[in-house]
Amino acid sequence: MITTQMYGALEYVRRWLIQCTQAVLNVNLSQVNILIVPNDMLLGANTPEGRNPAIYINRNTPPIVIKKWETYLRDYKEEHASEDIRLGQIMPTRVICVRPLVFNTMTLLQRCGIIWHEYGHAYLEAAGRPNTEQNAYLFEVQMLDYACTTNLFSHNGITVTQVTQYLDWRQTQYNIGIQPALTRALGALRTKLAQLAAHRFMTA
Ligand SMILES: [Zn+2]
Repeated sequence: MITTQMYGALEYVRRWLIQCTQAVLNVNLSQVNILIVPNDMLLGANTPEGRNPAIYINRNTPPIVIKKWETYLRDYKEEHASEDIRLGQIMPTRVICVRPLVFNTMTLLQRCGIIWHEYGHAYLEAAGRPNTEQNAYLFEVQMLDYACTTNLFSHNGITVTQVTQYLDWRQTQYNIGIQPALTRALGALRTKLAQLAAHRFMTA
C-alpha cells in the first residue's frame, strides 16, 4: 500500500539529508527525489541488490530498463487505484526508489540511514568519485555523525541509544566494505555518542 502520507514522511527524511550534505560537503542534492515503488517491483538484477529496500537510479541505467519499470508501475496503478503511484518519475541521477517496507519494517532512523546511503551513491556519482559501497557507507556515517552534532535527531525523537543500535544493526554491512576511513569514521561517531550520552545533550 503506497500512500500520500508516506511521501510526506519521506520528505522530512530527504530534507534532513539535504541540510546535512549542504553543511558537511557544501553540496546541494535537492534535485534528487524519492519515488515509492511496490515491494514486489524488481529493480536491477534478480539479486539481493535488486530487492534492496531503496535504490538510487544511476546514470548508466538504460532507457529500455526504465521503460520496463514504468510499464510495471502503470499496470500496478491500474490495479491499485487507491494508491499513490507516480508515473514518469524514474530518471537516472534524479531519483531514489524506496519500497513501502521501509515503513512497515523499519524505525525512523533506519529509514534515514537506508535512504541517506542511497543519496551517498547519488553524491558520489555527481562528484565524480568512485561510486563504491565503501564510499557510500562512509557518506552514510558522516551524515549520521553530523546529524548527531545538531538538534536534528534529538528534535525528532531519535536518541543516542537508537543511533548506537543503528550502528550495531548496520555493522555486518559495514564490515563487507570496511576500509580505514570508514573504521575511523565509525570510531569517531561511537566516541561522540558515548560523550553525548554522558553529557545528556541528547536523551539516552
Ligand atoms: Zn549501496
